[in-house]
Amino acid sequence: TERRPALEITGLTAGYNGVPAVRDLSISVAEGEVLALLGPNGAGKTTTLLAAVGLLPAMRGGVVALGTPVRGRRVEKIARAGVSLVPDNRGVFQRLTVAENLRLASGRRARADLAGTLDLFPQLRPLLGRRCGLLSGGEQQMVALAKALLPRPRVLLIDEMSLGLAPIVVQGLLPAVRSLADERRMAVVLVEQHLDIALSIADRAVVLHHGQVALAGPAAQLRERRDLMEAAYFGRL
Ligand code: ATP
Repeated sequence: TERRPALEITGLTAGYNGVPAVRDLSISVAEGEVLALLGPNGAGKTTTLLAAVGLLPAMRGGVVALGTPVRGRRVEKIARAGVSLVPDNRGVFQRLTVAENLRLASGRRARADLAGTLDLFPQLRPLLGRRCGLLSGGEQQMVALAKALLPRPRVLLIDEMSLGLAPIVVQGLLPAVRSLADERRMAVVLVEQHLDIALSIADRAVVLHHGQVALAGPAAQLRERRDLMEAAYFGRL
């Protein structure tokens, strides 16, 4: 069966104060596909995600999300159309409870989705009344994922899920991400520092170096080619 692209980044140049952080970048992600976006610190991974959700304007090229160009559209509109970002700071309000955080994220169409989302993270149910500041890092990441999933996005962008978490904790969150891609046909971009973790659930991977694609290929293949992965990380390809 043919997979339609859910997110298409074409010739994207974007950056800060007129200085490009990604240059002429082209990446596409299909429905139901998990793409790992890898690369060393400062390679441009976060910049790519920010441009994909319209938070950062393109200097050149552009992004088409769910068939509609992102350029010139309001960020809220893009989000409502079905593109959701889990930021690397997780965007969880520490002083609010889990339930309050989820209520804030869910808007009007709340209830039905809340049940479905809690099914994905059943560990959150007994914690609904607890302040997020009192949760473990892994539990907070679950809240962050749940918040992003409440509007039932069709494109989910996850920035550095593993930040501050033990690899084993991240490993526990990945099956939920994979099943969202498989069962809801969600397109997922997973920015990760831990190569093994990312490659274990991704279909494809792209390694960025200095804002450009240094290496791209099927995750299964790249898992076998650590030499290539390392060369790409150090810009030696
Ligand atoms: P990390 O793994 O460290 O988060 P990254 O791959 O996500 O790295 P980006 O955050 O996209 O990289 O950064 C790419 C480049 O853009 C870096 O050189 C960074 O210093 C620069 N940069 C990022 N954010 C800003 C900003 N707000 N203002 C100016 N430069 C920035």
